[in-house]
Amino acid sequence: MSARVFWAPGRVNLIGEFTDLAAGPVLPAALDLGVRVEAVAADSIDLSSHELGGRARLTADGNPLEGEAEGWARYVAAVATELALLGRPDVGLEGEISSTLPIGAGLSSSAALEVATGLALCAVADFSLEPLALAQAARRAEHRAVGVPCGILDQAASLLGRAGNAVLLDTGSLAYEYVPLPEGMTLVIVDSGVSRRLESSGYATRQEEVGRALTAFAGRKPLEITRPEIDAKEARGALDPVAARRLRHVLSEGERVHEVARLLREPSPANLGRLGEVFTEGHESVRRDWEASTPELDYLVELAREKGAIAARMTGGGFGGSIIALAWADQADELADSVLSAYGNGGGAAAKAYVCHASDGAGQIS
Ligand code: ADP
Ligand code: MG
Repeated sequence: MSARVFWAPGRVNLIGEFTDLAAGPVLPAALDLGVRVEAVAADSIDLSSHELGGRARLTADGNPLEGEAEGWARYVAAVATELALLGRPDVGLEGEISSTLPIGAGLSSSAALEVATGLALCAVADFSLEPLALAQAARRAEHRAVGVPCGILDQAASLLGRAGNAVLLDTGSLAYEYVPLPEGMTLVIVDSGVSRRLESSGYATRQEEVGRALTAFAGRKPLEITRPEIDAKEARGALDPVAARRLRHVLSEGERVHEVARLLREPSPANLGRLGEVFTEGHESVRRDWEASTPELDYLVELAREKGAIAARMTGGGFGGSIIALAWADQADELADSVLSAYGNGGGAAAKAYVCHASDGAGQIS
């Protein structure tokens, strides 16, 4: 039996950082870097990883054949378990995982791994799921595997991506639409080289703080709360300043997502100028109100703008990680190089840049 090949891309979020904590909008794009699974149907699961070595040896429904699932095998086990809970027949999978995505750089190699193995497991068992149902199962698998309480952004972007487009996704209703990127617009991602070690605890703390703010507005839909109402409640002492700042970020960021979508759809010179400002405002809001930027991310954003990026901001979980800069195709490589060398000269950590294009979402490719 010839092997089938499945592919799932990583993603970058253009804007809409942390809005999923209040069911707000996000605007990711799938990348032309991703995870590939080449496999055949088998009795049990036996996958190896070209990049990381080791094997995931599991029953078809995700139980380790010996000992406990470790390392990356935990993601495969968790995906198989989640799909079994949805009724996927017990058909195994034998083959190899390989990837062009950097691991741990914030481009969501974990979600790409979950989605690619999820698609492969569904296909060998003739089990079909709507893309968003598979995204939800993969998101639950991430919780199950490593306890990260992430939103739906990464997995949905990997499944819904479309070449040349960003995906405007409402994380509350899961309604989505495509936003075409202007011809030639290229995604330059610069990894600060500073690990995101506080990310999961930081995320959990922020989740709790936003929860506290929303409790103070009990009964109100998060996205209908206005800034003057937050200010008034804070002034009365009915909302603590930290929770107020977190909510201000989430709400203003949601407005920025819709503004960016509008600007991208009509990329006049004036609108592209405004796009740069909105990204800068978004970065400032993460720095000041959400408090998840770092001096390295601030510096990279400043450098990217100085070296000619159309727009730049931090992206992903914060507390380290990467920035996204938008550039025209013929300037993207030069932008990446000049940002990296200026950052290095300033004593910056080992940074890396990835010049990417918005790409199609996950699927079977042969
Ligand atoms: P990110 O998703 O930002 O890349 P994470 O820490 O969330 O970083 O996920 C990285 C983990 O995903 C790796 O430690 C590994 O367990 C798994 N993973 C990613 N790529 C591969 C691969 N090619 N082969 C096996 N496991 C992978
Ligand atoms: Mg991840």
